[in-house]
Amino acid sequence: MDVMIVGGGMAGGMLAAALADTGLRVRVLDAAPEPAMPEGPARPRVSALTEASQRMLSQVDAWARLPAERVQAYARMQVWDGDGTGEVEFDAASVQAQALGWIVENEALVAALYAARPANVVWHSSVRARDIRRQGEVWQVTLDDGQVFRAPLLVGADGARSRVRDAAGIPAPVQDTGHVAIVGSVRSEHAHGACARQRFLTSGPLALLPLPGDGDDVSLVWSLWPHEAERLMALPPEAFDLALSQASAGCLGALSFQGARQVIPIHTLHASDYVRPGLALVGDAAHVVHPLAGQGINLGLLDAAVLAEEMQRALSRGLPAWHDSALNRYQRRRWGHNALMIRALSGIKALFEANGLEWRWARNTGMRWVNRLAPVKQMLAREALGRKGDLPRLARK
Ligand SMILES: Cc1cc2nc3c(=O)[nH]c(=O)nc-3n(C[C@H](O)[C@H](O)[C@H](O)COP(=O)(O)OP(=O)(O)OC[C@H]3O[C@@H](n4cnc5c(N)ncnc54)[C@H](O)[C@@H]3O)c2cc1C
Repeated sequence: MDVMIVGGGMAGGMLAAALADTGLRVRVLDAAPEPAMPEGPARPRVSALTEASQRMLSQVDAWARLPAERVQAYARMQVWDGDGTGEVEFDAASVQAQALGWIVENEALVAALYAARPANVVWHSSVRARDIRRQGEVWQVTLDDGQVFRAPLLVGADGARSRVRDAAGIPAPVQDTGHVAIVGSVRSEHAHGACARQRFLTSGPLALLPLPGDGDDVSLVWSLWPHEAERLMALPPEAFDLALSQASAGCLGALSFQGARQVIPIHTLHASDYVRPGLALVGDAAHVVHPLAGQGINLGLLDAAVLAEEMQRALSRGLPAWHDSALNRYQRRRWGHNALMIRALSGIKALFEANGLEWRWARNTGMRWVNRLAPVKQMLAREALGRKGDLPRLARK
């Protein structure tokens, strides 16, 4: 094998699909069971995908494999300040787009990427990499069941707690955001109308993302301080639903949480490097960002696509795909871009957390100003679509 990808989530799956037609022999090692397209009601773990992500997924033949009933396009996005009157509303028509983004279940996206895996990819499910080490010029991975695999290029797509990153000795200090998130599915009294909504409260942002289906199910990501989450989690269902409806300012009428409430910690991290000789990190293994702008996997898909493009570039110049120059170019193209996004997100978080009167005034005036200025709004909408710079070109015959 030429390439071993540890982790077959969205980032690892994207890289495997993007390495079609390279002539490289690729092995994916993933701890999760074999991916399968979900059926029935939409699952709450979803991602808001940008137009850039949608286009890259189309290029690798994964987008067309997503059943229409598992994808929810959103043509509008409403962002407002819980402490005042500031509000910004974006719509797709103003930037000549069909949609501002798409909500897709994480599980469905992995299943689509799995279905799109090319013939040069061997995918092992339900296997966990236990020991990872460099042996001469190759990386060696030993699985829980004792199997041993070797390859000159090892890619860590194994998420926030990446073993590959640890084995390579790449520092990635974890930052506590001071937030946890209550996540799950919510039934709404009023139809979501294909609009993604986010209300910024001093304690953190509350996002209601439209889910596919009858139009009255939304995915909740309610980021807030841990003690506030503890208080809410202790409430009986009716009282929790009331608190949630109030926190969303009744934008969708009465809300009713479906199933068991779940709280997840929100940490961020950024690996100091994405590469070592014969090794690269992509997706959450390289960076974990606050979910407030729904950017995490959009960055991860771009990492995978850029890495694939640099590997193809090296091959076309007669070099091995894992040549230092290819890996270093990948790092140069992605590290700074992701660092900028991490800084921007922590700036947005701090701005909305600031509780002084002057901050509230500045925030609300700023939002009203942005909402009235069509060119500024269009620029922000284009940013949300990921329409900046050229997308990597992925070879698929
Ligand atoms: C509440 C919340 C909401 C979010 N919303 C959005 C959004 O709207 N838009 C967006 O772009 N992003 C969003 N994100 C971020 C997004 O979910 C992550 O960026 C994304 O899941 C990362 O994908 P990944 O493939 O890099 O890693 P993961 O999804 O963590 O996948 C890692 C894979 O590696 C495998 N693995 C791990 N260890 C091993 C091992 N030792 N051996 C073998 N396999 C292993 C796992 O089985 C898994 O399949 C959100 C995150 C959160 C927490």
